[in-house]
Amino acid sequence: MKFVSKCVKEFDDHKTTKPHQLPIYATSSFVFESIDEGIDIFKGTKKGHSYSRYANPTIDTVGAKIASLECQDLDTEGYAIMTSSGMSAISTLAMGLLKSGDKILTQGNLYGGTTELFNKVISTFGIESIFTDLQQYDQVEQHLKDNPSIKLIYLETPANPTMACVDIKKIADIAKRNNVISVIDNTFCTPYLQRPLTLGIDFVIHSTTKYLNGHGNGIAGIIVGTNKELYHPVWQAMKLIGTNCNPFDAWLINNGIKTLALRMDKHSSNSMALAEYLENHDRISKVNHLGLTSHPDHAIALQQMSDWGGMMSFEIDGSVADGIQFMNKLQFCTLAPTLGDVDTLVLHPASSSHLNIPRELRIANDITDGMIRISVGIEDISDIVGDVEQALKF
Ligand SMILES: *Cc1c(COP(=O)(O)O)cnc(C)c1O
Repeated sequence: MKFVSKCVKEFDDHKTTKPHQLPIYATSSFVFESIDEGIDIFKGTKKGHSYSRYANPTIDTVGAKIASLECQDLDTEGYAIMTSSGMSAISTLAMGLLKSGDKILTQGNLYGGTTELFNKVISTFGIESIFTDLQQYDQVEQHLKDNPSIKLIYLETPANPTMACVDIKKIADIAKRNNVISVIDNTFCTPYLQRPLTLGIDFVIHSTTKYLNGHGNGIAGIIVGTNKELYHPVWQAMKLIGTNCNPFDAWLINNGIKTLALRMDKHSSNSMALAEYLENHDRISKVNHLGLTSHPDHAIALQQMSDWGGMMSFEIDGSVADGIQFMNKLQFCTLAPTLGDVDTLVLHPASSSHLNIPRELRIANDITDGMIRISVGIEDISDIVGDVEQALKF
């Protein structure tokens, strides 16, 4: 072979023994040994990869691992589709399963991006979303009976920022009885704390950007389901819309998951300790933490979650300016609009995520002027409590 050609061509792979850690398959396509093999792979009669938008060994491995975690203690196998973000997991699912004229039944306190996606994008395809209180189970059933166009029920529990919960089993049963597909956003809990597929939910989605990655260094998402018939149109939507994950982000998630159990234990115990501290603080009017018996959904959480997780919020008895002052006084905790990282992340909704929402509407949704949301990290708890304590002195 000529020198120039040798430079261009891929050299023989020197892999001999099995790598201990999952390799990143940074390749857009896969080579066929023969045209017949290519035909068989495209037809699906032979297992194999062709093009990384369809499937990629790194992404498939991580997807299968998360599916297996979501299906722990379940007899059926799970199918996973990894996506470019949590938002693309939701949009891919909607595009794959719904058509113009279908409706989605969901709750008002969804992740903000999801509400916007349903109202501003999915709606333009003729798919309307109905927002209701999913805790009113009789009302949910009535909605489905009155409105046969509802094809999908979409829930999120616990939900931001008050940690309101929905009884997953009850919703799954209602969905089944009425032949409606049920989908849950399990981002806050991860399969370590809550496994909705075992309670009868059809699809779990995640923003893996949060706890599954855990280190805040990638954006990705996943869809996991157990029904092969429903899985196929969703996979097809992913493949054709092109919302696939990339191998590097999948690999980062793989790394993160190794410490998932340890991290979630620590997130849970640290958030509980902070909640107990804040509950006795005289400047705090309310603490939203599922482990506190004062939380209205403590009993539901106890029934469907194995621990409380790291998310909580509290209300400083004061104005928007007081909330801002608290934020500015923090020295140890990080001011960042994400959650689920190893370090403690603090957000003041009134001056950030909800800045453009009229005050009356914000308050009506329980997001008060002094509300602070915390994604409690896995640092030493005394550093977290110490920082909050000094920041509340003003
Ligand atoms: C962040 C988040 C999303 C969106 O995920 P991205 O990875 O940012 O696209 C969806 N749901 C919840 C609960 C989230 O926290």
